[in-house]
Amino acid sequence: MIEVIDVAAARLALSRRALPCPGCGSPLRLWGRARLRTVRDADGVELVVRPDRARCTACQATHVVLDAALLPRRAYSVRVIGHALLGAARGQGHRPLAAELAVPEDTVRSWLRRARRSAHHLWSIGVQAGVALDADALPTLERQDTLAYAIEALAAAALATRTRLGSQSASLWSQIAVLTRGRLLAPAPAG
Ligand SMILES: [Zn+2]
Repeated sequence: MIEVIDVAAARLALSRRALPCPGCGSPLRLWGRARLRTVRDADGVELVVRPDRARCTACQATHVVLDAALLPRRAYSVRVIGHALLGAARGQGHRPLAAELAVPEDTVRSWLRRARRSAHHLWSIGVQAGVALDADALPTLERQDTLAYAIEALAAAALATRTRLGSQSASLWSQIAVLTRGRLLAPAPAG
């Protein structure tokens, strides 16, 4: 799975074999499309998407090329999920967040649980990316909550990336989806 800010640019890059395989670095080529998905964005807007699939010309692995506004296997956009994570990092509970976002309480609770479980890993991704881009972007605030640390570090790194690339149009959460390779709610790797 590859998260991309610009789906059209990624398709063009695929057709030119200019998109590298995340596994081995060899060129990917277009390999049909993934199934149709409906995803809920902010304010109840429904997005219907059918992501491209790519296959590596060397290791043969296939990857879904996903719009960075979305996360794999989630029925809500990263903006909606990110809003919930940010609220939780600021101390809001899952019930008021669910009501505010019009998302079932169980769904919000599972997002928060997943993100908290890998908060330390997410934090380290944010800090590493932040340092690589701009040492001054490092968050300095002391916080009690690991999730708050993680969100802050990721947001700082996403902002620094945006400044570096000049891609002001991409939302901060899309940039975070790229940084975390779509694994915002995935289990942290072992070790
Ligand atoms: Zn490969």
